[in-house]
Amino acid sequence: MRRHSIVRAVPALALLAPALVALPGAPPAAAVPVPPKIPVATGTGGAVSSVDPDATRIGLAVLRSGGNAVDAAVATAAALGVTEPYSAGLGGGGYFVHHDASTGKVETIDGRETAPRGIPADAFLDPATGEPYEFTPDLVTSGVSVGTPGTLATWERALDRWGSRSLKQVLGRPAALARKGFVVDDTFRQQTKDNRERFRTFTSTKQLFLRGGRLPQVGTRFRNPDLARTYDLLRQAGPAPFYRGPIAGEIAKSVRKPPLSGRTDLPVPTGYLTKRDLRDYRVRDQAATRTGYRGLDVYGMAPSSSGGSTVGEALEILERHDLAAMDEAQALHLYLEASARAFADRTAYVGDAAYVDVPLDDLLSPTFAAERDCTIDPEQAAPKPVDPGDVTSYDGECAAGEGPEPVAVPDTENVETTHLTVVDRWGDVVSYTLTIEQTGGSGIVVPGRGFLLNNELTDFTAEPDPEDPNRIQPGKRPRSSMSPTIVLRDGKPVLAVGSPGGSTIITTVLQILVERFDLGRSIAEALAAPRASQRNTEAVTAEPAFIEAWGPQLEAFGHTLAPAGDALTSAAEIGAAAAIEIGPDGLLTAAAEPARRGGGSAGVVRRQESP
Ligand code: GLU
Repeated sequence: MRRHSIVRAVPALALLAPALVALPGAPPAAAVPVPPKIPVATGTGGAVSSVDPDATRIGLAVLRSGGNAVDAAVATAAALGVTEPYSAGLGGGGYFVHHDASTGKVETIDGRETAPRGIPADAFLDPATGEPYEFTPDLVTSGVSVGTPGTLATWERALDRWGSRSLKQVLGRPAALARKGFVVDDTFRQQTKDNRERFRTFTSTKQLFLRGGRLPQVGTRFRNPDLARTYDLLRQAGPAPFYRGPIAGEIAKSVRKPPLSGRTDLPVPTGYLTKRDLRDYRVRDQAATRTGYRGLDVYGMAPSSSGGSTVGEALEILERHDLAAMDEAQALHLYLEASARAFADRTAYVGDAAYVDVPLDDLLSPTFAAERDCTIDPEQAAPKPVDPGDVTSYDGECAAGEGPEPVAVPDTENVETTHLTVVDRWGDVVSYTLTIEQTGGSGIVVPGRGFLLNNELTDFTAEPDPEDPNRIQPGKRPRSSMSPTIVLRDGKPVLAVGSPGGSTIITTVLQILVERFDLGRSIAEALAAPRASQRNTEAVTAEPAFIEAWGPQLEAFGHTLAPAGDALTSAAEIGAAAAIEIGPDGLLTAAAEPARRGGGSAGVVRRQESP
């Protein structure tokens, strides 16, 4: 969660007991200690990895009381709605990937937010100018960017399909946590501070997150009784009040007529969501994408997310090179070049497959990958952006036709979201990424309900270009980068991983897979390793530690490396992953971020030291 540390600079003490490290905004003397964060745990009986100790603890409690991975994943996600309210919650959406140990199947749920049925194609153009709204602050803090939330419907569907507990049961602990409160850490305070102006714009948001006009103090408890009551209502009545009852009406009202406080002059364009959009919302049961890599089967999310197709296409290209046998800088050069090709194709071809024809089989075809690989020089980086490939004409013989004209789309995806991974004692696995998009979503709290609404529709392209697969259309899901992933070997799960980070999610997951399966790192090392992200842009975005480690060597290949940064928060970090590896002997290694965003929290049901 915290955005100020660089991975390689993690002091040993911070890894062992970050709660003991003095942080800016340090707690007053009588403060409640911030629960310690544990980046790696090994053991048996089940495991949970998330960004937050309370959420991981709640997931483990569900596993210990006999619940399965799906029950624990929903409980962990609902707890994150309490402790990470700026990243995820009832007001957002996400993608749920599940491996069922009894059938061996990997299946997914697409719980992405949808555009309202009344949204016009030019919704993101400012009527005053005819030009796209400024992304920040106009679009980000708006009703027009709010999509119909899918998170609650995802929980309901996942429990219904694979769970062994009811919504009523799994929401019990998260409701209690919302009532009791969590201990404010430096990250939560900083995120609130970064959003202060947006949050002051709405009476409901100011009331919840800026009580008395002040930032929450580190070491105090942050309680959210409104969210506790919302969870209680859903425990009693199921999802109906949210999708067909009073909360649906309140969401629609908050979008169409946001509760403005008059305390700022942010423009806040209003939106189009109606009660009918909520009533009509459905998650999609979706086949997972599958890519073969080094004898493994890598499963991911199909469109509306571009995660599975983009990670998969890059892996198909890399599969053609023996990365393990080469110098590491050479392997990283190929990682960056493969990623650029996959991103060019993502932009050209991927959108919500219910609305546009996505050539998913082509994008994941080894023959197409061979053709794309022909454009990579193992010694020299190509000038960026590279052109997309031609999915209509390829034979793997390096004589591809011309692809479509590249669409110039600014990368406006932001860096929030959260990922969690769960394995249970039976070998079921969940890899679940969920979000409200921006840190703090649209900034609009539904009055009295304790959760923020998303601004997910900003993932659409603003310009209404009929050639763009990611243009705005009524009812459509904006293209996502979320990449919850499950890896099997011979039908048995070996790894589940995912990350936040907007479009860098794709490269983070890809890089972790390469670090783990090609470059000989353990899963904990792969999560900690400094990162770089090539998304078909002129310069590679990289963490300072990556530039320090690899800059000169990669520059020799012709790459330009630019430090990662975020306009709002000056973050120099890429991703904040959560993973679980399942050893051949069944030993589980839960791994969370050691440092990024303040570090994550890994836990196992029964601890056992790794031999
Ligand atoms: N909106 C992003 C996506 O769906 C996720 C938000 C983020 O990670 O910043 O890909």
